Amino acid sequence: MPQVMVVDDSRTQRAIISEYLSQLNCDIILCSSGDEALIKVSERIPDLIILDVEMPGLSGFDTCKAIRGFLQDTWVPIIYLTGRSDPEDIVEGLNVGGDTYISKPVHRDVLSAIAKAMLRLSAIQSELIKANRKLDEVAHFDVLTQIMNRRGYQNMLERYWSDHVRRKSQLTILLMDIDFFKKYNDNYGHIQGDQCLREVAQTLKKALKRPIDIVARYGGEEFVVILPDTNIEGAVNVAERLIEAMRTVNIPHEFSDCQPFVTLSVGLAQADLSNETSKQVLERADKSLYEAKEAGRNCVRH
Ligand code: GH3
Ligand code: MG
Ligand code: MG
Ligand code: MG
Repeated sequence: MPQVMVVDDSRTQRAIISEYLSQLNCDIILCSSGDEALIKVSERIPDLIILDVEMPGLSGFDTCKAIRGFLQDTWVPIIYLTGRSDPEDIVEGLNVGGDTYISKPVHRDVLSAIAKAMLRLSAIQSELIKANRKLDEVAHFDVLTQIMNRRGYQNMLERYWSDHVRRKSQLTILLMDIDFFKKYNDNYGHIQGDQCLREVAQTLKKALKRPIDIVARYGGEEFVVILPDTNIEGAVNVAERLIEAMRTVNIPHEFSDCQPFVTLSVGLAQADLSNETSKQVLERADKSLYEAKEAGRNCVRH
């Protein structure tokens, strides 16, 4: 049920407005001051705010400004309901972020019709936010392997990066590439190749113990892991564990030149958080990966 917040310093006004809104199917939250409204908005964002202008403490305009500043990207419709009806007041109220300005006295049907119209807009916005979240999920997800894709990795790395700079912590990236995967495809076929990619992805996911560790499919038969709060030594341990997990899972690959099962080469690089970009650390991991390939595959280099 939508939630409508009514902010007015007069108890009588609050009672009248609630009564007018009773024909709408909504929860009504009453606040007797702007400060109280701000606290309640920070606890739960209502779907509509009806705001008095003249109040002791924060005025309606101040309250509106504060709510807009606090909510940033989330829009909540704000209706002023006030005795003041000078054009300058209306202009100022709308300029600081109000959506509609109603002068008292207002007919009950008019108030509830305007509230209903605003709730309609609010509902459309909620739907849009939900749809955007869904799109975001899809855009960051690899359908084949059911783990994050490259965009998901980039998104997570950016988030971790700034957080690590602030906390002066360490962060290491592992880049992995399946060994002799072309031979796998050529001999077992593409469908089995896809199945192999799924198994590798799930193996890596399971072998990472901490929920904050991120594994993503970087592209093709390459995977990337972000290890937050981890230095090179810690990351080497994790990489060896991943290589060991591949041995245990034992996906047969009789055409591999290095082992009779599917193996990974791993390159890792610890991010130099304040002196390089996320692209540069990945390039260094890629160089290490190349060295791992040169060194005979199924191994880690950094
Ligand atoms: P190396 O040990 O040097 O990495 O050799 P490789 O054969 O793994 O390397 P190469 O880059 O030559 O081959 C990668 C292969 O991965 C070629 C491509 O057909 C296969 N591949 C990439 N993406 C997919 C995919 O989505 N599905 C399948 N089945 N194969 C893929
Ligand atoms: Mg008042
Ligand atoms: Mg490759
Ligand atoms: Mg490969």
